[in-house]
Amino acid sequence: MRWRISWRRHHLAGRSIHSLPDFEVIQLNDTHPTIAIPEMLRVLLDEHQLSWDEAWQITSRLFAYTNHTLMPEALERWDEKLMRSLLPRHMLIIKEINQRLKKQVKQRWPDDKAMWHKLAVVADGQVRMANLCVVSGFAVNGVAALHSSLVVSDLFPEYHQLWPQKFHNVTNGITPRRWLKQCNPALAGLIDETLKTEWANNLEALSGLEAYADDQAFRQRYRSIKQQNKAQLTEYIARHTGIIVNPAALFDVQIKRLHEYKRQHLSLLHILYCYQKLCHNPEDVTSTPRVFLFGAKAAPGYYLAKNIIYAINKVAEVVNNDPRVGDRLKVVFIPDYRITVAELMIPAADLSEQISTAGYEASGTGNMKLALNGALTIGTLDGANVEIAEQVGEENIFIFGHTVDEVKALKAKGYNPKKVRKQNKPLDDLLKSLEKGKFSNGDKHAFDLMLESLTKHGDPWLVLADFQAYIEAQQRVEALWRDPEGWTRAAILNTARTGMFSSDRSIRDYQQRIWQAPR
Ligand SMILES: *Cc1c(COP(=O)(O)O)cnc(C)c1O
Repeated sequence: MRWRISWRRHHLAGRSIHSLPDFEVIQLNDTHPTIAIPEMLRVLLDEHQLSWDEAWQITSRLFAYTNHTLMPEALERWDEKLMRSLLPRHMLIIKEINQRLKKQVKQRWPDDKAMWHKLAVVADGQVRMANLCVVSGFAVNGVAALHSSLVVSDLFPEYHQLWPQKFHNVTNGITPRRWLKQCNPALAGLIDETLKTEWANNLEALSGLEAYADDQAFRQRYRSIKQQNKAQLTEYIARHTGIIVNPAALFDVQIKRLHEYKRQHLSLLHILYCYQKLCHNPEDVTSTPRVFLFGAKAAPGYYLAKNIIYAINKVAEVVNNDPRVGDRLKVVFIPDYRITVAELMIPAADLSEQISTAGYEASGTGNMKLALNGALTIGTLDGANVEIAEQVGEENIFIFGHTVDEVKALKAKGYNPKKVRKQNKPLDDLLKSLEKGKFSNGDKHAFDLMLESLTKHGDPWLVLADFQAYIEAQQRVEALWRDPEGWTRAAILNTARTGMFSSDRSIRDYQQRIWQAPR
């Protein structure tokens, strides 16, 4: 395991095991490697023959934990019986941690059974890995400012009362070498020439581009690079899907894992809205030509996610072959989405779709890659979108939808998607068109999983609740798109102002706020 590397380095330097945490930190990337904690204790107790207090003293200063999601189903819980049979020594050690924690909790909250049930590492026949991480480590962090505050207020409020100093934020970052220099060589070249500095290792230097946002000639070059990248993607799309798209249209990009909380189906409803508008008024010359681009994979057993992929593809089939629409609207689901495909799509994006239900996207990093490459974001106040909005300024981003507090209030009040639907005729019409099989060769049940989730099952991700605000935000997008100089100015400012989202800054934050190594 990874920690053996740090131990070897420490040992070869002639240092005692007791000083290991003065020189090394083991950063747990989510709950997946949590077993490293009881394994460390086992090595110290059984191989180094240390006492529990000595072993705990070392271990509890060695580990730090990064939380990547608030969704309960993503926090690992391992079956106690299974662990006892496969890893009996580790299970004994976990029980010991749990017993000692119980004493501490009882001192702080005597006779509070509910409190103990929340804080326990072992409960209901399961080992709760996230709890084990918080209890056994010296630091816990979320991956964006909003997320880290929700880690404290919603996920671990009781642990925060016990150990407030353990909790931190480190906003995620992306590597500028891959996500600008390598994937967008034309833009990288323009930046080299303009700034004459090593920006790829010092991304904050991009702020030097602000001065050029109002420079006509620079804007022209920036815009023509985007156009060149769009032409390249257009070729790729033709080769891999056979679909011919208009490279002058607005490239509207949503690329990320397929998940209900990310709401690809909200974008699908907007596509249907645009399509119906064009069908009702085919002569409308004011409509903005758009290419809707999706890239996504679903987990193998996630049927609803696969149904959303199916729905996007079926709608694409109808829209792309409707002669009334021509090349004013195209929908492309690019197959086999992966890093190399992302490297092609991101430099070619005009609009970045970051439309998760507020409170559920811990950070997002696709949002950073796209903004850095000059796509304007349409998004909710979720994850790192909040910090992107702060950086680029509200006039250079399209924010919409329920906030975290409004999501909570709506759910508490009792949200009824059927009522929303009834009161919004265009929304009701386009849902009906899906229900009637208009996009599935008359099959009325093709999209049941998706549609029943939106209506019968209460629309848990508030897709319908955010629909109208989303449509209005898309209208603001189109208003700015009609002003190419204004759009390009905003795009340049997105590149210029997203330097803080470098992974170099992220790593420096880990060092300054958490590792502080050597200590
Ligand atoms: C960046 C990236 C992601 C993460 O995207 P989000 O929009 O932040 O969810 C997922 N897949 C690939 C291939 C990526 O490059």
